[in-house]
Amino acid sequence: MIEFKNVQKYYGDFHALHDVNLKIDQGETVVLIGPSGSGKSTLIRTVNGLEEIEDGQLLVDGFDLHDPKTDMNKIRKNVGMVFQHFNLYNNKTALENIMLAPRLVLGREEGENKRIAMELLEKVGLADKANNMPSALSGGQKQRIAIARSLAMKPKALLFDEPTSALDPEMIGDVLDVMRDIAKDSSMTLLVVTHEMGFAKAVADRVIFMADGRILEDNSTAAFFDNPTEPRAKKFLSQVE
Ligand code: ATP
Ligand code: MG
Repeated sequence: MIEFKNVQKYYGDFHALHDVNLKIDQGETVVLIGPSGSGKSTLIRTVNGLEEIEDGQLLVDGFDLHDPKTDMNKIRKNVGMVFQHFNLYNNKTALENIMLAPRLVLGREEGENKRIAMELLEKVGLADKANNMPSALSGGQKQRIAIARSLAMKPKALLFDEPTSALDPEMIGDVLDVMRDIAKDSSMTLLVVTHEMGFAKAVADRVIFMADGRILEDNSTAAFFDNPTEPRAKKFLSQVE
């Protein structure tokens, strides 16, 4: 589903991704961890074309993202993204936030669109907040709406960039529960940047550790936590766990 081959990414002279090689299959849940500034956001943002790569090959859903002929809109239809700061449309209700992209991008019929949106509100536990504006939602509720909005496009892959790190501690569990459900009952590919090691242990098939723009470890979850081979991964774990 997602394959990086010798990918290089620069911001000006700064080498942000060094020779990244990574393959994620359809349906896998992969957690990406590493210190601040290690390139985690950069890596996941390349997957839906929010950041361009300078060299190598990046295949997503069969499309080559480094090929100028690739239609990025096709990628973004199938690869959703959930951000740290939700990025909801503040002038639209929760329900309208969920219905907008399927209407505009997929041309989903209005009755069907609403039915699916209401189902998703139910799924994230917020059916009673359908008509709330974002300003009348808590941080955790906003993030669950943002997740429902991504799911409404029925993407093949969903990218999460620290979805709980802007939330008050008591809100984090509800968001992680929704993510856990998605990982459990779907064939969707999930790539999640998070510092929630409990979530990683319980939900991830694999853990990837990055530092200085490089992937230093890519291992099954059990192997990673039982016996990280990379000294920097060990040190990182001792700091976050
Ligand atoms: P954090 O945990 O703090 O979110 P991260 O692992 O997500 O960090 P990135 O945001 O991917 O790290 O940044 C990786 C490196 O690239 C950092 O050194 C950062 O300063 C640099 N960088 C990121 N975005 C840009 C940009 N637009 N222009 C220049 N440098 C950038
Ligand atoms: Mg980041």
